[in-house]
Amino acid sequence: MSLFGNKPKFCDETLTCRICGKPFVYPAEQQEFFAAKGVTAKPTTCPECKKAQKVNADAEKKQLLQQALRDPSVRKYYRCSWCGKTFTVTAAPAYWERMCQRSGASPCPLCNPELWKLPPFAEDLQLNKALGLPK
Ligand SMILES: [Zn+2]
Ligand SMILES: [Zn+2]
Repeated sequence: MSLFGNKPKFCDETLTCRICGKPFVYPAEQQEFFAAKGVTAKPTTCPECKKAQKVNADAEKKQLLQQALRDPSVRKYYRCSWCGKTFTVTAAPAYWERMCQRSGASPCPLCNPELWKLPPFAEDLQLNKALGLPK
């Protein structure tokens, strides 16, 4: 498409946001930055919509946590295989169970703090703290 020969490698490009449908500029510096990382896919959402999406996702997580705090029926409790204390996993209980089955252990946040720093359990760590678990 370079009919004029000396087109620069990267130049500002106008893309259309798939959420709001408005055009937005994909700056040459960003294209260069991502190309250097080997990313060739172009952004599909404008910076405003991307920011709004992030805010929504955070709000959803917070809501889930609050719901779990209010409503004990959405919580699933587990017994630590090391100390026998009770704790809860709400973010990804199926994932937790699969992981415990494979490793043969179900460690509470006190017994395996490193594991509990990882997503998705980091949020459950907050929940366990808020509930005063494990104890
Ligand atoms: Zn948008
Ligand atoms: Zn424990």
